[in-house]
Amino acid sequence: MIQRLHRSDLGNSLRTLMENDPAFRPVAYFSMEVGLKESIPTYSGGLGVLAGDILKSAADLGVPMAGVTLLYRKGYFVQEFNNDDWQQQKPVVWDPTKELTLLPNRIKITIEGREIQVGVWVYEIIGSTGYPLPVYFLDTDFEPNDPADRQLCWYLYGGDNRYRLCQEFILGVGGLRMLRALGYMNIDTFHLNEGHAGFLTLELMREQGYYDPERIREQVVFTTHTPVPAGHDYFEFGLIDKVFPPDALDTIRRMMPNMPGVSMTELGLRYSRYINGVAKKHAEVSNDMFKMETVDWITNGVHPTTWVSSGMRKLYNKHIPGWEQDPGRLVQALTIPKSEIWAAHQASKLRLLARIVETNGVQLDPDVLTLGFARRAATYKRADLLFADIERFKKVAGGKKVQFVFAGKAHPHDDGGKTLLQKIRRKAKEFENEIPIVFIDNYNMEIASLLTQGVDVWLNTPMRPREASGTSGMKCAMNGIMNFSILDGWWIEGWIEDVTGWSIGPEPTETKADAHYDESLDAVDLYDKLENKIIPTYYKNHDKWVDMMRHTIALDASFFNTHRVVKEYAAKAYSIDFRGM
Ligand SMILES: *Cc1c(COP(=O)(O)O)cnc(C)c1O
Repeated sequence: MIQRLHRSDLGNSLRTLMENDPAFRPVAYFSMEVGLKESIPTYSGGLGVLAGDILKSAADLGVPMAGVTLLYRKGYFVQEFNNDDWQQQKPVVWDPTKELTLLPNRIKITIEGREIQVGVWVYEIIGSTGYPLPVYFLDTDFEPNDPADRQLCWYLYGGDNRYRLCQEFILGVGGLRMLRALGYMNIDTFHLNEGHAGFLTLELMREQGYYDPERIREQVVFTTHTPVPAGHDYFEFGLIDKVFPPDALDTIRRMMPNMPGVSMTELGLRYSRYINGVAKKHAEVSNDMFKMETVDWITNGVHPTTWVSSGMRKLYNKHIPGWEQDPGRLVQALTIPKSEIWAAHQASKLRLLARIVETNGVQLDPDVLTLGFARRAATYKRADLLFADIERFKKVAGGKKVQFVFAGKAHPHDDGGKTLLQKIRRKAKEFENEIPIVFIDNYNMEIASLLTQGVDVWLNTPMRPREASGTSGMKCAMNGIMNFSILDGWWIEGWIEDVTGWSIGPEPTETKADAHYDESLDAVDLYDKLENKIIPTYYKNHDKWVDMMRHTIALDASFFNTHRVVKEYAAKAYSIDFRGM
């Protein structure tokens, strides 16, 4: 049978061909961690989940890019606690062959004088309109590599500085070499999600064959995520000398002259054509910290259909058709009947409470105001701010007026974070009969979903201005859940008092990374607002409460989503057009 093709069909089939050809993908997105779903445990927290959400939105919108990361066969870790409420780390058991496809391609890189073979696995994200977006996971666990080299990609944030340097060399240099082996010959933009992949600039220089930093700069885009000076990866040349092959060593010494070592952030800042922070405030703080004026901001978001509950999704589909492809339409959320919002919300709350019965053996009350707090247990996040004044806390929340759900992992080497977790778990036991507090073990994407769909209010209490953006509160907004948070990161942009939630503490005026303000005011304000605004509204003004939920969707979910983020990157950082625009 002869098929006749119309002009438009021809256009479409040509488009499909091009879309599947790596030679037509102009953007490569590099991230040390990528969190796509629970069963691929190659992420530790916000950075990885954001990367996953961005790649998913890019697929939904048909943005021609590919992701590059490492395959961690031992994942991050599974969290358990001993009898002393001290965090224990258990290895994650997962089987990459169940989730990813191993490709035949191999490339070689040299580390410490040994030639190491790097292989690659692929996960293909299929966007909502069928557009495929590949994410490549590099791996060294192959014959004939040395046993020690085979473990180089086993642990995420696991080993010492040398291990870390090897991983970043594999990600940057190996990642680019692998993309070429896979047929990516026309990349105009290498997007560094945080500085970890910055060594790809060395490989770009090597490919070029002569030293021209300006030519490198034209191809790189850098997103910084860390407003804390000590949070940036740093490697001394003494170590780099031992790890890198001679050509890469010459290049990096030339690129970073008169330095005792390499700060990956500094490398990103110097060799990128566009630099951004992940919220307006974060960009201000970064400009101050780096003594620059050119750090722009693209405020983070979350992937709509990953984080919305099934009930809310049905509601939005019914009342706001097309919102999945264009979440900006959620601005129409005020037209959704309040009773439907509430019913969908309570269903998610019941799902969370059912899970808590299973995991903790505790029965929480679906009609009691429930506050959630879940994040990395870093000390600056102050998970224990709630307990700053125990008497006040009991007076405000006692008598089972409020119940709390906590979750979060501390980094394996962070004893401060582990002490925080221990404190929360001990308080939970202490207040058992007055204020129900539960701690759900092993915070991950699945627990994050349950929590950000099922609590009534999301609490966030970081020390300012250390929260670059934060994204868990945006997941809540996607489900019409209000934030109650320190004015930092994204919340400065998303906050309208008594409309989308409540602030904690004074309005920020400081723009310096090391600025100080009177942090004791935060706890006072937290108790005051809980007592005088949040509890009364929840129990006595249901109408206003649900109206706030609708405003949260209309004002925050419509904006703090990765579809908007990806469009901003495409316009400001990549300068490309794509199918979804
Ligand atoms: C969304 C998410 C985070 C990031 O949340 P923050 O608001 O930045 O603390 C961390 N971990 C997991 C598992 C998540 O899903």
